[in-house]
Amino acid sequence: MWNMTSGVDEAAMLQAGEIIRKGGLVAFPTETVYGLGANALDAEAAAKIYAAKGRPSDNPLIVHIADFSALEAIAEEIPEAAMKLAKAFWPGPLTMIFRKKDAVPYGTTGGLDTVAVRMPDHPVALALIRAGGGYIAAPSANTSGRPSPTKASHVADDMDGKIDAIIDGGSVGIGLESTIVDLTEKNPVILRPGYINEEMLGKIIGPVHLDEALLKDDPNLRPKAPGMKYRHYAPRASLTIVEGEAEAVRRKINELVAQESAKGRQAGIIATDESAAFYSRGIVKSVGTRSEEITIAAHLYSILREFDELEVSKIYSEAFETPQMGQAIMNRLIKAAGHQILHAE
Ligand code: AMP
Ligand code: MG
Repeated sequence: MWNMTSGVDEAAMLQAGEIIRKGGLVAFPTETVYGLGANALDAEAAAKIYAAKGRPSDNPLIVHIADFSALEAIAEEIPEAAMKLAKAFWPGPLTMIFRKKDAVPYGTTGGLDTVAVRMPDHPVALALIRAGGGYIAAPSANTSGRPSPTKASHVADDMDGKIDAIIDGGSVGIGLESTIVDLTEKNPVILRPGYINEEMLGKIIGPVHLDEALLKDDPNLRPKAPGMKYRHYAPRASLTIVEGEAEAVRRKINELVAQESAKGRQAGIIATDESAAFYSRGIVKSVGTRSEEITIAAHLYSILREFDELEVSKIYSEAFETPQMGQAIMNRLIKAAGHQILHAE
């Protein structure tokens, strides 16, 4: 484990880059979540990512670049809308889908003819990409199905002994994975909501829509991003979201937690700074404050991991339909809950 919480350690970075160039695995911080990196142009190296994570082989990887010129080497066609979005949001938490060039092996794209590309906004990530040859395939650095890591210790919990190195860059800033936009079809589609929301994208390229399959709970609709069909981010205890008017939600959660207590079991509650004091039983954790929704995004995954360590019988969470990041936060929370949602009256 290298510590780069206070900046890039150039000597260690050369060694980390060498691991990537030789086909090894290095976990590293980005502004969204920690990534598990390998050389994206080396199919054998990419295969090691799938093995370490236990990731289904049809779930493609995002290729991370550090320079605009790198895009031309891997994307067959760069639509004008993509150029505009790159100028507006790169480096940053936006991934775009392109038709791939032959340089990108199918082992990186899960067999697809398209490739997902992002330029992360983190000095350690950018330095590692450059030191490692310019193209790093990196999914989140968690065991498949577990919450994504937002601190180096989360990575170590899942990956120790399975990968070559971890770079500690402290806690990440955003805490949810990048927004994914597909520009390969006529109308741009959001395949995964993130910090960069519909409105922000719309201001640059006009109307953008969310993949329908993400909004509806219809098993016949297949999400366009292969990874979105899998249960993700799941804590060990069963998680239920309780939505509705604030007071009704608090009442309902208190009632559900009391039912657990009556059976001699301890439930967990995901609350906010505004609501935590209203819960009288169970283990209450505040995920952040509704007045600064980024705090909710930043702590969501670590709270799910904390509850795993506490071995609670059930977890109840408030819903977080906040104005800017609500779509992204609820998309992850609903997946973590395996779609268990109660409406409080
Ligand atoms: P992760 O890196 O673990 O956050 O997951 C990457 C996400 O990007 C998954 O949901 C993938 O399905 C999606 N993705 C990667 N490449 C493509 C692609 N070529 N087309 C559509 N979705 C993609
Ligand atoms: Mg992931």
